[in-house]
Amino acid sequence: MDSSDIRSRLERLVLAQLRDEHDDVAITRKPLISQFTGHNYGDHDVPTDYLQAIEVAERLSGIACALMIDYADKPRGQGSSWAEIATAMTIDPDEVDDPAIEAFERVAPPDRYRWRADNYTTWTCVSCGQRVTDRGPYDGHPVDNESGHAEGCERHQRDICAYLGDNYDADDSGAGETSGPTRGWL
Ligand SMILES: [Zn+2]
Repeated sequence: MDSSDIRSRLERLVLAQLRDEHDDVAITRKPLISQFTGHNYGDHDVPTDYLQAIEVAERLSGIACALMIDYADKPRGQGSSWAEIATAMTIDPDEVDDPAIEAFERVAPPDRYRWRADNYTTWTCVSCGQRVTDRGPYDGHPVDNESGHAEGCERHQRDICAYLGDNYDADDSGAGETSGPTRGWL
């Protein structure tokens, strides 16, 4: 399904909503004429009052954004990174400084909570079943970014090991022989 098909579905949704809210008078029929060729495709349903249609389309847009935010929290709970969510959001890495931060800020805008200095979102970790507060990928260290995992949460420990693997050399610090992968964050 391409964008024009999705647009047609959304248009039908707008018209149905207008009819629900304002009865049949909200819809009228007008000929659809191509701007480019002048071809007349015949009469189509259109909004009688486009100001009413704007209101409905704006509401749909807000609901779609809220859905996207709900959907983004789910894979975070399942273990996806903000970078992976950024890819799903089709954020272009050439257009932003950090796609992971851009994805997080679309879900948790910095000015969302006026009474808090920091922004965050929450999700349920499928590994430990706990509700986790996620303050975004600014820092990099999972312990600083996420609070609420159960002690010993497998996913959280795996994320920590992955982070420390890039930033911490256990052999150089003498931690390698006995303590295993948890040494770096204790
Ligand atoms: Zn967890």
